[in-house]
Amino acid sequence: MSAPQSNKIPVQQVDLDGTKHRVHPRFVTGFYQNIRVITMYALLAAFLLLPWLRYNGRQAIWLDVPSQHYYIFGMTFLTQDFYFIAAFAIIAAFALFMVTVYAGRVWCGYACPQTIWTHLFQYVEKWVIGDRNKRIKFDKEPMSATKVFKRFLIYFIWFVFSMITATTFVSYVSGTDALYNSWQMIGFIPFPEWATWIWVSVFIFAFSTYVNAGYMREQMCIQICPYGRFQSVMFDKDTLVVSYDYERGEPRGARKKGSNPDNLGDCIECLMCVQVCPTGIDIRDGLQVACIQCAACVDACNDIMDKVGYPRGLIRYTTERQLAEKEKSRVFRPRFFAYLTLLTILCGGVLYALNDRVPLEIDIRRDRNQLSSLNQQGMIENSYIVKLTNKTQDAHTYKITLAPQEGLSLEIRFNDVPLEAGESFDMPVSIYGDPDVIEFGQTPVTLNVSSEDGKYHVSKQNVFTTQGQ
Ligand code: SF4
Ligand code: SF4
Repeated sequence: MSAPQSNKIPVQQVDLDGTKHRVHPRFVTGFYQNIRVITMYALLAAFLLLPWLRYNGRQAIWLDVPSQHYYIFGMTFLTQDFYFIAAFAIIAAFALFMVTVYAGRVWCGYACPQTIWTHLFQYVEKWVIGDRNKRIKFDKEPMSATKVFKRFLIYFIWFVFSMITATTFVSYVSGTDALYNSWQMIGFIPFPEWATWIWVSVFIFAFSTYVNAGYMREQMCIQICPYGRFQSVMFDKDTLVVSYDYERGEPRGARKKGSNPDNLGDCIECLMCVQVCPTGIDIRDGLQVACIQCAACVDACNDIMDKVGYPRGLIRYTTERQLAEKEKSRVFRPRFFAYLTLLTILCGGVLYALNDRVPLEIDIRRDRNQLSSLNQQGMIENSYIVKLTNKTQDAHTYKITLAPQEGLSLEIRFNDVPLEAGESFDMPVSIYGDPDVIEFGQTPVTLNVSSEDGKYHVSKQNVFTTQGQ
C-alpha cells in the first residue's frame, strides 16, 4: 500500500512556533543526479551563450522590444506577427502538459530556472563552507571575522552570478552591442537615457535572481509557483513520480550492521533521503506538492541500499498503478493520443504558416483628412501612406506598382525603395482617377510590391473613392 498524498508544509523547515529554517541539502551523486547536473548546466550554458551567437551578421536571437522587431535565426517578426509567439507559447504549454502527464514534474526537477539557479547558489555555499552539516553548524555559530568573511565571499559570488544572469537576460532584449556600448558609457555625463534603462533593467533582474536563488529557493516552488500547484490535477495513475515503496520499507527502523530483522522493513531510517532533498521534505510521507521530482532521494537511498546489501529501488520512479495496484502502467492511453493529436495539429499549423510567410510587409493607410480631391487637371486624387517593412535579413530594393485598372494611375515619389534588413519606411503615394472613366463611389485598388531580385511579392487592397471632394 502506498502512503496517502499529503499537502502539508514540510516539517523540516518549520518549527512548532512557526520559525522557518534554511534548507541545507546534502549534495549527492548518482545516476539521476548525473543526468540532472548535465541537463542543468547544458541549459545554463545555452542561456549564457545564445545571445553571442550571430546569424547572417546579426544577433541570432534578439527580441528588440523598443523597435518591435524580433529576430530569431534569420527570421524577423514584427508585433503584427504576434500570433506566432502566441502559437509557440501554446505549443510549449501543451508539450509541458504532455510531459507532465507522463513524467510528472520533470521540468521542475531538471530544467526549471529556479531549480538551476538555486542549485548553483547552494553549490557556492558548499564550496565556501562545506557540505550540509558544516553549513547547518555555520548558521548557528556566533558572529566572527571568519564567519563575516565567508558570508561576504558567498554574497559577492552570488552578486557576480546575478549580474551575469541579468546582463545575459537583458541582452536578449537590448542586444549585446547596445549592452556593450552602455557599459562603455559608464562615467559619461549626462548618462544617456537608453543606457539608463538597460542598467535599471539589469539591476532589477539581478536583484530578482539574487533574492530568488539566494533566499526564496524552495519557498518559490512551494508557495508561489502556480505550475507546482496545478500539476497535481494532471497526474493520473500512470504518471511517473518519485515514490517511496511504503510496503517494502515499513516498519522503518535502525538496525545493526549486517542484521536483517524480520520485524522491520527495508528502510533503515538513515534520513539520507531527507538530507539530500532540496525542498527539505520527507518523501516517505507520500506525494507532496513540495516535491520537485529531482530524484536526489532516489540516488541517496540507492546508495544506502547498496551499502546495507538490500535491493535498490526503495525510493524510485514509478506509477501509482505499479506501486499500489501491482499492475503494469499504461503508456498509450486516451490522453496520450489527445495531446499528440493537438500538438501535431499545432506544430503543423505553425510550420505551414512559417513556410508560407513572405518576409515583406505592406500596410496602406488612407489620408484621414480628405477622402479625395480634384487636381488642376481635373483628375480625382486619393492620398495614402504606404508602409513597407523588409522582414528579411538582407537589404533589398522594392518597387511599388498599381494593379492595372482602366482610368486609374499611380504617382509615387520614389520608383525604387531601398530598405535595410528589418527596416520600415512610410511613403506618401497618390492614386489618380479619370472622372470620365471610373464609376462614382468606391473602386477596389490593389498595390503590388516586389523585390528587385523577384524573390518577394506582396499585394494589398484598399479603395479609391470619388466621394468627399
Ligand atoms: S534513504 Fe532510504 S533507507 Fe534511508 S531513510 Fe530514506 S528511505 Fe529509509
Ligand atoms: S522528495 Fe526526493 S524527488 Fe522530491 S524534491 Fe525531495 S529529493 Fe527531490
